[in-house]
Amino acid sequence: MHGLMRRLRVAEIVALALLYWTHFLCVLAVNSGLDIDNKEQFESNMRILFITDLHGYIWKYDRLLEAAQEFEADVIINGGDMLPKTENLLAQDQFITDYLDNHFEKFNDARIYYLCCLGNDDLRIFDSLFEETCNKYPYLINLAQRKFEIGEYEFVGMNWVVDYPFRLKDRCRMDTQDYKFQEQFGTGLLSTQHGLEEIEDWFAYAKTLPTIEDELEKLVRPMNLEQSIYVIHMPPYKLGLDKCAKGVEVGSKAIYTFLQTYQPKLSLHGHIHESPEFSGKWYAQLGNTICIQPGQLSPFTYVTIDLQTMQFDRHFIEGYD
Ligand SMILES: [Zn+2]
Repeated sequence: MHGLMRRLRVAEIVALALLYWTHFLCVLAVNSGLDIDNKEQFESNMRILFITDLHGYIWKYDRLLEAAQEFEADVIINGGDMLPKTENLLAQDQFITDYLDNHFEKFNDARIYYLCCLGNDDLRIFDSLFEETCNKYPYLINLAQRKFEIGEYEFVGMNWVVDYPFRLKDRCRMDTQDYKFQEQFGTGLLSTQHGLEEIEDWFAYAKTLPTIEDELEKLVRPMNLEQSIYVIHMPPYKLGLDKCAKGVEVGSKAIYTFLQTYQPKLSLHGHIHESPEFSGKWYAQLGNTICIQPGQLSPFTYVTIDLQTMQFDRHFIEGYD
């Protein structure tokens, strides 16, 4: 009799423990914004399609869903400079409401995660509209200065860029404290609710802002760097991912040092559209980190990545500009 009771009690304890454990798993899953099925689905494998610098080219955006479905992508990553770079930048909000909203809905309906951020050519005054548009869809994530978990993978985004000669300074920063500015094409401009406003002394103003080095330190750090993917619009220096048409290499030293120090699984970059053409490189290895910068010239250019096998390929679709 005694023995039977003890056995029952052990069985109860085991049952209770199991109950709590299942509950704990559920809480975990809810916290990362996923249901249990998705967590299991992504335990080992995840397929990513990475594009960047589409600059509002509708024919490229229109090809994206088909390319994603063909590759059976679980996640799209759109690395920034998403809006049209036309004469009137102040009309970029129309592209968000008239095109992107509907574009996002299609990926949401297909249950494909779409992690994205705006870039240096996308006005900051439209950040809140962009955020609200993403927030309409559970599968759409504005990754700028954020971390998002899918299964066992952690994605972190950053869209500040190192200063350049161009006038729009919305997302520009000095790379490090000892950064030397390039010669400028004119007075700096910042977007405001009243339009683009001139900054009298951009260099002095920039010195009051955090550097790229500071911004990287402020980002939420993944729990497991080996399973993390950084999406940083600006490329690192020294790896051949940052070469301009004039042959100048303009990448970020701070980003290079950050990746070298923390060694994520993967880092995804854009910004210098022509770099692969001029350096002959669209990816590089920095310790254990694979850094990818696909470029974006007249063909629709994208990269597919299988995170389990770490096979990655660059694709081109010819179209029209
Ligand atoms: Zn850019």
